[in-house]
Amino acid sequence: MSEIPTQLFINGEFRSSTQGKPAGLINPATEEIIAEIAGASAEDVAAAIESAHEAYRRGWRDLTPGKRTDVLFNIARLLRENMERIAQLESQSIGKPISDARDEAALGARVFEYYAGAITKFTGQTIPVARGGFDFTLRQPMGVVAAIVPWNFPFPIACWKVAPALAAGNSVVLKPASLSPLTALLLGQIARQAGLPPGVLQVLPGSGQETGDVLVTHPLIRKVSFTGSTSVGSRIMELASRGLKRVSLELGGKSPNIVFADADVDRAAMESPMSVFANTGQDCCARSRVFVERRVFDRFVDSFTAATRQLRVGNPVQDATQLGPLVSAGQRRVVEDFISEARKGGRRIAAGGDRPFPRGYYLNPAVVLEVEPSDRVWREEVFGPVVCIRPFDDEAKMIEEVNDSPYGLSGSLWTNDLRRALRVARQVESGVLSINSNSSVHVEAPFGGFKQSGLGRDLGMAAMEGYTELKNVYVGE
Ligand code: NAP
Ligand code: MG
Repeated sequence: MSEIPTQLFINGEFRSSTQGKPAGLINPATEEIIAEIAGASAEDVAAAIESAHEAYRRGWRDLTPGKRTDVLFNIARLLRENMERIAQLESQSIGKPISDARDEAALGARVFEYYAGAITKFTGQTIPVARGGFDFTLRQPMGVVAAIVPWNFPFPIACWKVAPALAAGNSVVLKPASLSPLTALLLGQIARQAGLPPGVLQVLPGSGQETGDVLVTHPLIRKVSFTGSTSVGSRIMELASRGLKRVSLELGGKSPNIVFADADVDRAAMESPMSVFANTGQDCCARSRVFVERRVFDRFVDSFTAATRQLRVGNPVQDATQLGPLVSAGQRRVVEDFISEARKGGRRIAAGGDRPFPRGYYLNPAVVLEVEPSDRVWREEVFGPVVCIRPFDDEAKMIEEVNDSPYGLSGSLWTNDLRRALRVARQVESGVLSINSNSSVHVEAPFGGFKQSGLGRDLGMAAMEGYTELKNVYVGE
């Protein structure tokens, strides 16, 4: 394979860190170190923010929409040319099955295409104000945006923050998660090759704990766009409040999957395992609380469990693999603690929860039954391959239980009764919901959470709005 990027990407080139403390990057499938990655110091971050601001002022802000469009389409084209490399690096750093990594590399390119096209379709308004004259709005860039992203979908999430922020005319300082810096660094390099001026996209690997405060509080940062845990998100909001920084936060979830007896129950049971176990359950949209109408409960559980046992857990390099390892030994330990606590509490583990291989952070996907609504495994985000399934009798009571969660990100609902589908869809407290489908993310549609699942929206035109300030201009007569 060609060279792995290991340094900071600042002002259009790779640079070493001022602190000289590289961190080993472990392939979770083999437990071997694949690279030593430089970590940005607080000083590096401040310098990168300052030069990102310079790059913004020097011309990116004022580039014509047509030229910005060309640069973003060029980035998309180069991402497509480098798709296999992106997929391989992603798969090796976090154990993502290679077929998923390829799909996500393509998704990243599509995000750039969408926002490249959006630049010339993102319009203001003319407003017939009462006093006459002429009134219109402008959508203007903010300045430097800090984008902080997690390790579970590193490449697509980086793209869906960076692309609309650049499209709107901002410059971006991107901080990838410590466990997944490689594809972010590649994105920086590819964007530069595609004609993005130096400094407009800086990529700074390193520890969030060490550099997070500077990224959020630096006076030149105008907005922080974050995806990650609710605890870090809430800290970012607190710090950002001091400078009244704009924030958008995509946080945790504990999403429901609701199956009514009138649904195509067999199809729901076959498709539902991947709605929680995809990406080895490390998915903020994972439908980890399944609510099944009692009349079809046993039938659903039997086929769901059988389908779960057939999922192909294994080496991420193989095309047929559906579930790779968890991202780290620590993450697997967290997940195993949930399972052993449930087992000790007398809950039934109907499948999985054990380690299939001696090497690599693998875990067989676990189906937990007979849980109580007060159980930790039912209430808290596991962020691993664990699902709980409970029966329900009454629609209204079930919806109360669904909404009895601090989270509200995603969810599915299976029914063939149109009126019920629309009634329940209105009542579920979540930012994203799918009916007779598992799909949560569409490049063209807004994505984000209610309640403690977040604030603001990624994707669609909503994201573009979120990277601009709205100015009203009045022309007197
Ligand atoms: P995390 O600890 O919150 O980390 C996310 C990012 O924040 C990483 O880049 C991390 O850097 C950085 N970070 C850590 N501490 C920070 C601080 N004090 N200030 C600023 N940045 C800081 O979350 P994670 O463990 O990587 O990811 C799992 C969580 O993310 C889950 O709870 C999941 O639900 C959530 N998530 C949500 C979505 C969504 O769209 N809603 C998508 C994916 C994941 P380091 O890696 O260096 O610590
Ligand atoms: Mg963390």
